[in-house]
This record gives sequence, structure tokens and C-alpha cells, in this order.
Amino acid sequence: MLVLKFGGTSVGNAQNIKKVAQIIQTYREPILVVLSAVSGTTNTLTEFHNLLAKRKEDEAKTLIDSLELSYHALLDGLYASEYYQLKALTFIRKSFEKLRGFTANNEHEILAQGELISTNLFQLYLTELQIDSTLLSALDFMSIDAQGEPETKKIKTKLSKSIADISQDIIITQGFICLNQENKIDNLKRGGSDYSASLIGAALKAKEIQIWTDIDGMHNNDPRYVENTFSIDEISFDEAAELAYFGAKILHPQSVIPAKENNIPVLLKNTFDPESKGTIIKNCGASNGIRAIAAKDGIVAMKIKSYRMLLAYGFLKKIFEVFEKYQTPIDMITTSEVAVSLTIDTPTHIDKIVKELQTFGKIEVDNDMSIVCLAGDFSQKSRGISASVLNCLKEIPIRMISYGGSDFNMSLLIDTKNKAEALNLLNKGLFQEILTLQETV
Ligand code: ADP
Ligand code: ASP
Ligand code: MG
Repeated sequence: MLVLKFGGTSVGNAQNIKKVAQIIQTYREPILVVLSAVSGTTNTLTEFHNLLAKRKEDEAKTLIDSLELSYHALLDGLYASEYYQLKALTFIRKSFEKLRGFTANNEHEILAQGELISTNLFQLYLTELQIDSTLLSALDFMSIDAQGEPETKKIKTKLSKSIADISQDIIITQGFICLNQENKIDNLKRGGSDYSASLIGAALKAKEIQIWTDIDGMHNNDPRYVENTFSIDEISFDEAAELAYFGAKILHPQSVIPAKENNIPVLLKNTFDPESKGTIIKNCGASNGIRAIAAKDGIVAMKIKSYRMLLAYGFLKKIFEVFEKYQTPIDMITTSEVAVSLTIDTPTHIDKIVKELQTFGKIEVDNDMSIVCLAGDFSQKSRGISASVLNCLKEIPIRMISYGGSDFNMSLLIDTKNKAEALNLLNKGLFQEILTLQETV
């Protein structure tokens, strides 16, 4: 069994959906296809919910009307026969009637409609093409616990049972959506379809998990901020997990973990250029030098300065307990004799955290920071890599450096306003040789 996930752009319009159908027909073994919502739909549904929450019903109605209209255009381009167009239109009408009936209390049900719509339309399209398939609802097997973590054992049991009853070689299901502990619709957070695919692959012990998107695999740097990036042929699970967590948008932050735990290779492929090699994430050794760079925004840095820390044991424990109390994870941490600096990316409880930390010493808070993460060989045997990194960033003020936490990563905290420049400087300084080689071939 192979798991193939297609993202929002890959199912973004009629033409792209046809490409996805072509791609899946090239497989000669059972496949489980995980689909995202049509691109833009989850954003619009989020906006729709926000308007309902602000009691702006008229604006909400206008927005949902225009989203429905956009689906009419998609149906026109997708189905060849009037019969299937009408069938799809009836389905869209029903889905939007349901959406209009929701209130601000139905946030998760509203967001789930995107994936429910795309999978239904896709299966109908395959039926029109006379391709046999089964639509399996993700709500029948995907679930999260009270902390929002996937219930991997339950998922495995339920999914294996459902699959055993299916004879078709193509199974379609929704990414992103799941049930929570109250048996209500919930989701795996934005971009969560990658995570769904990885959880499904792990549950079924799939041969491979394929993530089909709008770019030819994992690039060495963020293509949204840097011009001369290039696709990486292969990368280790650890490096990919680090990059995904620290901002490489091509993968949901947690999506590498289930694949890594089950040693299932993850292939990143481009729906719009299926011939290009893409990137394979697998159990391979670290690279020679730097493999790739990513950056994560929205980071808050905190410095806790206290002379009580001098020679004191148990000090860090007390600080960590405050973050634990407010369920706020810490990303980076550095210490000196009299101060601790750390970063968080979820500032929901920051005021309360600062108030409690003030009992330990003086607190400084820096907002709008970014973590730049470099994945590669940072082991003891490598020489000069960290020096090259710092050399590239001579002109960029660095607030924190995290090095030595693992053999394959180094992270730097900088002001977000310097992020694009830092990524470009690192690209030029660390990949110049490869870039020059590429230019000459
Ligand atoms: P999908 O809708 O298929 O899930 P996403 O938009 O979530 O696609 O992810 C693909 C996008 O990730 C690319 O278009 C690219 O702009 C962005 N991206 C950010 N960092 C990287 C990277 N290191 N390598 C490749 N793509 C990246
Ligand atoms: N549709 C969801 C989102 O836009 C999930 C996904 O695309 O992965 O976040
Ligand atoms: Mg995505």
C-alpha cells in the first residue's frame, strides 16, 4: 500500500484535479489518496467563521456565496457530462446549505467542509472516468486525545478494520479532519493533511508516503524569500523533522514523526512536474555540510536575569514549571551564569507567564523574532561549519544561538525584519559552490 497526499494547489481547480487523476492512474498497486481542501477554501472558511463570531452575518453570507460560486466554475471545468455536473452541483448546494446553517459555535465543522467537499468531488470525477474507488471518511478512523495528540493505536485498529472490508485498489480520504475526545469534529491544525498522510502511512505500515505539492521537493532554503534555491535529492528523517518544525512550509511541523518512527520513506513530489525527481526523506546519514535552511516567525524571546541563579540548583526547574503550568512549549534555550534566555511560539499566556517569572528576577521580552534553523552535519567531526554560518551573518544582529542539542542542527534567533536578508546571505555564503556548478551545467 502506498499513501499519496495531494495538497490544496494540487486540487486547486478543474485542470489540476484532472492532473491528480492522471497521476493516480499510473500506479499498479493499492493506493490510499489523502486530499486537502481546494486551495483557498480553508482560509475562506476560517474568515467565514471569524465573521460569524463577530456577528457580521451579512458579510459572512456574501463570503460564503462567492465561495459557492467559485465551485460552480470548478464543476463546469471538471465533469464532461451533464449528468455528473448536475450530481456534483446538487452535492455542492447541500454542502453550502449546511455551511449557512452553522453558527460561530461550529468552527471545526465549518473548517472540515473543505476536505469533505474536495474528496467527494474527486471521487465523483473518478466515477465519471469509470475508475473504481472507495471514499473512506477520515472521521471513521482519525482521532485525537484530550491534548490534541493523534491516538495512534486507535487509528491503526480502526483503519486496518475499515481497509480490510474494501476491495477497490483506490481509497480516497480526507486529510486534516478528525474526531476529538467528545466525538466531535476537530482537526490536526493548519496544513494538517501532511500529518494525516503520515499517520495513515504509519498505521498501515505503508511502503511509502508520498506528499504531492506545487514544488519539486524540499528546497535548500525557503523559496518564498530566497531566489536561487534548489531541490534536495535526499534528506534524513531527523533533518526533515527539524526543518518542518522550524518553518519549512512544505511539511506540517509534526508530519515527519510517524513516518520516522515506522521507518517509512516520505517522497515529496511536484504534481505539476511528476517527472522531476523530488526529495526522498529516509533513514540516511547526515549530509556533508549544510543540507538546508528554514525559518519560523512569530517567536517571542524572554530573558530571565537573576543573581539567585548563580550556583543555584533547581532554578531551571522552577522556570520550566511556569511554562508547564501554562502549557507553553519552549523552543530554544541558552544560559549564562546569571541569566536564562528562551523562546516560545505560542504567546497566548505570555502575560501570566511573565508575571510569575518576575518572582525569580528581571524579565525582558522581545517580540517579532524568527528562528533560523540550519540542518546538516553539525557533529564533532565536522569542521568549520558553524564558523561559516556565523561568518555569513556578520552584519545581522543575533539574539541567541542554539548549537550542540543534536548532531544535525543549529538554530539562531534573529529579528524577523532581518530574516529575508539572513536567509539570502546564508544561501550565498553556504551554497555558492553548488549554485555556481548549477549555473555552469
Ligand atoms: P500544499 O498545499 O501542497 O500542502 P504548501 O503551500 O503547504 O502546499 O507547501 C508548499 C509550499 O511550501 C511551496 O510552494 C513553497 O513556497 C513552500 N516552502 C517553504 N519552504 C520550503 C522548502 N524548504 N522547500 C520547498 N518548499 C518550501
Ligand atoms: N486544508 C487545510 C489547510 O488549509 C489542511 C491542509 O491543506 O493541509 O490548512
Ligand atoms: Mg501544506
